[in-house]
Amino acid sequence: MQFIETRGNDGQKPSSVPFSEAILSPSASFGGLYVPEKLPNLDKDFLEGHLSSHYKTLALDFLQAFGIDIETEVLEEALKRYDAFDDPSNPVPLSQIEEDCFVSELYHGPTRAFKDMALQPFGYVLSKLAQKRGEKYLIMAATSGDTGPATLETFKNQEGVKVACLYPDGGTSDVQRLQMVTEDGANLKVIGVKGDFDDTQNTLKDLLASEDFKSELKERGIKLSAANSVNFGRIIFQIIYHIHSYLELVRKENIKMGEKIYLVVPSGNFGNALGAYYAKRAGLPIEKILISSNINNILTDWITNGAYDLTTRELIQTESPAMDILKSSNVERIMFDKFGAVRTKELMEALESEGKYQLTSDELALLREDFDASFSDDEACEAVIGKYAKKGYIMDPHTATCMKAYETLRDEKLPTVIYSTAEWTKFSTTVAKALGHEVEGDIEALQWVSEHANVSVPPMINGLFSKPIIHTVLVDKESIKREMLNFL
Ligand SMILES: *Cc1c(COP(=O)(O)O)cnc(C)c1O
Repeated sequence: MQFIETRGNDGQKPSSVPFSEAILSPSASFGGLYVPEKLPNLDKDFLEGHLSSHYKTLALDFLQAFGIDIETEVLEEALKRYDAFDDPSNPVPLSQIEEDCFVSELYHGPTRAFKDMALQPFGYVLSKLAQKRGEKYLIMAATSGDTGPATLETFKNQEGVKVACLYPDGGTSDVQRLQMVTEDGANLKVIGVKGDFDDTQNTLKDLLASEDFKSELKERGIKLSAANSVNFGRIIFQIIYHIHSYLELVRKENIKMGEKIYLVVPSGNFGNALGAYYAKRAGLPIEKILISSNINNILTDWITNGAYDLTTRELIQTESPAMDILKSSNVERIMFDKFGAVRTKELMEALESEGKYQLTSDELALLREDFDASFSDDEACEAVIGKYAKKGYIMDPHTATCMKAYETLRDEKLPTVIYSTAEWTKFSTTVAKALGHEVEGDIEALQWVSEHANVSVPPMINGLFSKPIIHTVLVDKESIKREMLNFL
């Protein structure tokens, strides 16, 4: 199975590539992205055949149905990463919080955010490919919190790949910073940047665009890849848990096979939602995918009136920082699927040159066949966290944005799966505040919430506060290049 390009082909790059190429070199012609030429078939036979399958078996069969050019043994090894999740017999548990509302918990991996679901197996596959080809790759990430720890964790001590992670000093929670600066591995570099997330991201962009940095990499025989969700190697693993959640509902007899359900996805770069969309297109019985956002609600606009407009917006910092995103990269893959490459290129170029575009009413209607959207501000999220804490369920602020979509967007009262993308322990000061106790740091918040709500803090979070700090480099923007070259 081959991968094609969202903005068409420029005549320089091959017009289609295998999976391995799409994940090692994820940038396609005209700045576009790689997408699968076709999807496997998730018909009733496939679903029924996996009713009693373990997550890993479902995943392996799905990946093989995709026909990707990765050997079975490599995929099997990659999927063993799920054995290190809290419950190896079920890495993605489903909790019921209302008669017809279920939380699919995607955060039971090593860094306590859903990024592990894809990055854990992806890191293994990418590094095996690099080793097999005898090539060396550099992955650079600018992070505001969850991507950094998950990227470091998956590539730690893997041959063929080096990772450099830039974070804004003071711009992450204590837990998130500690997850990065205590991560030990000879192939890892973590650099604190004096400035905010924008400064950090711009520093990275400048570095990646600089000709002399590129020629330094070339001299050292190092290629650049990416581990953000522009990389299809992450998306492919994000289709699987949607199938799993559906099968869990059938197994628990909450639905019958074939019955339709709603999914609610708290979204930023739209990778999680894209996975749901591909599952629906492949045949999973999903009525609609409901997208939830915080007040950076550009996705709500896009899905409710077809406008994608950056010119009237500035990024606002919220208590759900992983969704503080205005340029959502995977929207492009949806547009390609619905409107084709020519139109996608036109729309994305308008976004780059004018900062906005508007879908036609026909295009909007096509989009709304699969999606609807709503958003919640911080106050509403805190109220949701408080409400469910009283019922004995603790959720993080990203997950909390889902409840408004669940309450207001369903045309029929079908069973609904909402996705929990982070454990509360990553955002404990917000959760403590929602439960009526304002504290400064994570240590105090973790302890207070754990006592008052009677929930435990997992060892990998508690242990962070006594782990030795490995990475102490803190630099201003001008010194990043020197730091990077030292590392390489
Ligand atoms: C990354 C992230 C999201 C957003 O996911 P996308 O796939 O980028 O839409 C939501 N919540 C948390 C906690 C995250 O880490």
